[in-house]
Amino acid sequence: MDYENNYLLAIKNMNLRQSFIDSIELGWAEQYMPKCIYKNRLSKSKKNILMSTKRLSILSSENKSKVLIYPVAFDLKFHPNFQDFYSTLVYHEGQHAKENFIGLPMPTCVSVESIEYWSAFDLLQEVRAVRNQLLHLTKENSEAFQVRLEERLNNHLRQLSKGGCNEFVELYGDP
Ligand SMILES: [Zn+2]
Repeated sequence: MDYENNYLLAIKNMNLRQSFIDSIELGWAEQYMPKCIYKNRLSKSKKNILMSTKRLSILSSENKSKVLIYPVAFDLKFHPNFQDFYSTLVYHEGQHAKENFIGLPMPTCVSVESIEYWSAFDLLQEVRAVRNQLLHLTKENSEAFQVRLEERLNNHLRQLSKGGCNEFVELYGDP
């Protein structure tokens, strides 16, 4: 499978995106995120979101997630090559899906006034997902992508440490 070429074709032709996504081997992440869906429309306020992960159902005991993949994920500015796209899908969203499955740790840094509880909670999830991506970068990933990940991680960590919140920044749980 020539993923690199198929990625470029999917960038050019929106109609190929879902079948391209379906062709990707998710490996370990598949058990946590059986559904990956291309979503063409996105509200203006969220136009810079590449992908998002949510539980399939909050009512059932099913803790698996679905990943929504938005148009900007197919923008070379954000994912210069297929390995970068794959990194976000499998190592970032996969980390979120895994945490949805095994349960999220609740930070106790709630009393910290300079940072709101839910933003701390979100930031901690983001930190772990970006850490997981950095951990699995290969030489096939673009340098621009790596630089952006490191910037994001440092930004998030800075915000958290301003609020005195540094628990659960490390990865946890079995793969
Ligand atoms: Zn995320």
